[in-house]
Amino acid sequence: MKNDENSLQKAQAEFISTVSHELRTPLTSIRGFADTLLTSGDKLSEEQKQKFILIIKEQANRLIKLTENLLAVSKNEVEKLVLKSVDVTLLIENCVGLVAAQNKKNTFNCKIDKNLPKILVDTDKFQQIMLNIVENATKYSNPETEVQISVTSDDKFVIIKVSDIGIKIDEKDKLRIFEKFTRLSTPLTQKIEGSGLGLYLTKTLVERMKGTIGADSDGDKTVFKVKFPISAYDDDARAKMK
Ligand code: ADP
Repeated sequence: MKNDENSLQKAQAEFISTVSHELRTPLTSIRGFADTLLTSGDKLSEEQKQKFILIIKEQANRLIKLTENLLAVSKNEVEKLVLKSVDVTLLIENCVGLVAAQNKKNTFNCKIDKNLPKILVDTDKFQQIMLNIVENATKYSNPETEVQISVTSDDKFVIIKVSDIGIKIDEKDKLRIFEKFTRLSTPLTQKIEGSGLGLYLTKTLVERMKGTIGADSDGDKTVFKVKFPISAYDDDARAKMK
């Protein structure tokens, strides 16, 4: 018991220290650029001023996204799921449509098997999972490449694969990327904004719905694979059907 308490306290202390660091970096940058504008604004060209204001705005956006993600993480730890047995075809098509509408960098190819078996999910959270993975595929892929979404099933699972061509994930990072605040330190990734909380949230949600999630890279192709047990094989669903 004592050991459990100690490791919980250690995890909490680590979490607070990481969050403080994540908050401090953009705040320091906002203060620095605001200071420069206030004290030496008259010596700067219009172009330089615009550039600094844009950085301040981007850093403020980064803070907003981070606080939204932190709220989602803490909510997820207490919020109950509302599970329903559903055909997820339309939910997936909607999520891909939403990401595609906001992203002109990639093309999207979505292939979903007809008559997909139903799975037991919380529909809001399921969409959050899909949005996170498809958005990541667009964020970490090369311009003008295709993001592919395929949905199939076997006798026990619905299998969703989202693949992109771009930054690869090394074998040693395949599990680490699902931990809180983990971002891979490739030069390309550093240019892309993110908090490192999305995949942690996604994995927690998938597992709360009894699914599994994993990532694999082959050359510059990265595939995220999510599997959910079909309702007929899910213990809860079977119990409810009785
Ligand atoms: P964020 O995108 O906010 O950094 P995530 O938790 O969603 O955080 O992802 C964690 C890390 O996993 C990313 O920073 C990136 O390094 C890596 N990653 C996620 N999706 C992909 C992908 N499709 N291709 C390559 N790397 C990825």
